[in-house]
Amino acid sequence: MAQRLIIATANSKKFAELKRIIENNSAWEVIIATQADPPFRHFPPETGMTFADNARIKSEAVALFTGQWVLADDSGLVVPALNGQPGIFSARYGGEGLSDRERAQLLLQNMENANDRAAYFEAALSLSSPEGKEFRGWFGRLHGEISRSVAGEQGFGYDPIFIPKGQKDLKTLAEMEPEVKDKISHRAKALQLFLKDLNDLSDYLLKT
Ligand code: IMP
Repeated sequence: MAQRLIIATANSKKFAELKRIIENNSAWEVIIATQADPPFRHFPPETGMTFADNARIKSEAVALFTGQWVLADDSGLVVPALNGQPGIFSARYGGEGLSDRERAQLLLQNMENANDRAAYFEAALSLSSPEGKEFRGWFGRLHGEISRSVAGEQGFGYDPIFIPKGQKDLKTLAEMEPEVKDKISHRAKALQLFLKDLNDLSDYLLKT
């Protein structure tokens, strides 16, 4: 029977990406823990100063509560021309209550006069043991630039305004099929490193 790995996230679209990539590349079955699930209402506030801090805070709290191996991801968009914003505040940029589209549009407005449009997505993953201690963390980055307008319906978050570096047709992430994003994204890069370790460490993880 497949071994279960709990993913601690409040973002169902992010969960879908994590589940798809992990299940396609390992023998682990991935289940979700969100704040909405009664047994998992123990997401601590994200008080860290880095993506890695926040990923660790989430994975340790949910692992301690469930007594199982838990993976958490914290990620966001970093725009040097905006002094690194939205960064660790990506999910809350512009305040609570905005939709993903509204946040993306706000960021475009704030970049209206910016010639330097460089940006990157960063993802930090944290795996915590059933005792609630972080076992290891992994990172991935995707460099690119902020587009001039919103384009595409796929993905989530800032995908419709982010053009990954090095592709000829200048499509945003939201104009790409999910399988294409799964190969190049910050989350995919962190997950590749995680999966390599997971496959190497599976016997050890299952004994503990
Ligand atoms: P978190 O749940 O605190 O990690 O919030 C991450 C936020 O960063 C999301 O709500 C998105 O706004 C943004 N973000 C992270 N990864 C991606 C991505 O792959 N595409 C677009 N936006 C992303």
